[in-house]
Amino acid sequence: MISQLIEAPGAGEIRQYRMLINGKLVEARSGKTLESINPYTGRVWAVVPEAGDEDVDVAVQAARTAFDEGPWGRMTGTERARLMRRLADLIAENAEHLATIESTDNGKLRREMNGQLKAIPEWFYYFAGAADKIHGETIPSDKPNFFIYTRREPIGVVGAILPWNSPLLLLAFKLAPALAAGCTFVIKPAEQTPASTLEFARLFTEAGFPPGVFNVITGFGPTTGRTLVRHPRVDKVAFTGSTETGKEVMKGAADHLARVTLELGGKSPNIVFDDADLNATTNGVIAGIFAATGQTCIAGSRLFVHESIPDALVSRLAERARTIKLGDPLDPATEMGPVAFKEQLAKIKSYIDISQQEGAQLVCGGKQPADPSLRDGYFIEPTILTQVDNSMRVAREEIFGPVLSVFSFSTEAEVIAQANDTQYGLAAGVWTRDGQRAHRVAHAIRAGTIWINAYRVLSFNVPFGGYKMSGIGRENGLEALHEYTQVKAVWVELEGQTRDPFTLG
Ligand code: ADP
Repeated sequence: MISQLIEAPGAGEIRQYRMLINGKLVEARSGKTLESINPYTGRVWAVVPEAGDEDVDVAVQAARTAFDEGPWGRMTGTERARLMRRLADLIAENAEHLATIESTDNGKLRREMNGQLKAIPEWFYYFAGAADKIHGETIPSDKPNFFIYTRREPIGVVGAILPWNSPLLLLAFKLAPALAAGCTFVIKPAEQTPASTLEFARLFTEAGFPPGVFNVITGFGPTTGRTLVRHPRVDKVAFTGSTETGKEVMKGAADHLARVTLELGGKSPNIVFDDADLNATTNGVIAGIFAATGQTCIAGSRLFVHESIPDALVSRLAERARTIKLGDPLDPATEMGPVAFKEQLAKIKSYIDISQQEGAQLVCGGKQPADPSLRDGYFIEPTILTQVDNSMRVAREEIFGPVLSVFSFSTEAEVIAQANDTQYGLAAGVWTRDGQRAHRVAHAIRAGTIWINAYRVLSFNVPFGGYKMSGIGRENGLEALHEYTQVKAVWVELEGQTRDPFTLG
């Protein structure tokens, strides 16, 4: 039983991890390591290898060989699905442990991780169900002597790069469709939060996948990540992270024309009309910006409120924000944990300072909590800003923290224009009881996900991805399978006819 192998982290213990390459747990060839800090205590709690170029190369070659020559490449979709279901069962059996590891590594609430770990096996069950339904089609030929069909084949070796905010869930977004399609995988989690991916790797081996199908390398973005993305034997890059890094990743992949999916930043609008249910709206806005300490690409960081109700809504939001319980992410009563790492906390604080210089009004929050029990952790209070206009930096740039900017509007046309006045297009919320207006606005907002009277809901079977500079391609749903497959057309001559060799068919 794997759960006996991977015990929960003990207090004060520093865990040592190895990478998974070609079915073996290994150190970096250079012997170099990097430290992962628990953001609640501010102390090192795990040490992982720092992969150099040679380690990246060995991992990519392992994935290449597993794809081109190993048993994986010859398996049917039904056989791949069997392994995927076994993996899903193991994730479910080890959910508690994985949740604790990720909460310790990145400060995400244990209560959020409980929900995620219930959902993550579903990603693998869903795509396992799809693995034997990936098929081409026959195409009626315009030439009577031909039979033509297509095959939907796996793209090959996937190089995946994860961000630090939700490693295991975002891993599932990529790995489940890739396995269903028959690809092999090399993944690099973020340097700040590598532990949960390395724990997951052990379950992968336990599930019985052939060596080389799934490889984990750990290291920094501009070195290890860059080498992986640029490796000429990587056929596809699956990236989640910031828009700036996404551009670098795309340039790196372009050199060898690897396919890319990029799931990038956001500055998502949450739009509240005058007929909205204020209780539900308050709850949804809080979920959108303060859940996960605001460290989500889909954060509803721009709140547009109809001019007839801003005071009523902002006072409810501020009242709730002031009572949000900050604390130990492992404590089930905690509502907001620390920011995942020190530099991110500094970034959030600097945006709050900028908002004050730009003339925004601070309604609540804005500083680190005074509570001495939170002194060691990277905490920041839930923050609400009013008197923000769309030209300010806090309105335009992704903060990736619990900072809400509030705007007011008078007409539907005006709010649509303001909501769309951003480089991003990941998500949006629309709050109204008017069904026609809800759909009208949903259609007019240029973003990949729109929630009507809800916020921050995702599922394995619903396509997810960005418009504009929020990304390229879609994760989740059957759409995602297209990102890991390519189409081959096969032409079969039926009658032995010959033709003029100097003309096109
Ligand atoms: P942040 O949200 O902190 O800005 P990034 O988007 O830079 O994070 O990082 C997301 C992931 O991308 C991390 O795993 C990081 O190591 C990786 N990364 C950073 N820079 C590069 C790069 N130049 N090439 C490939 N991966 C990178």
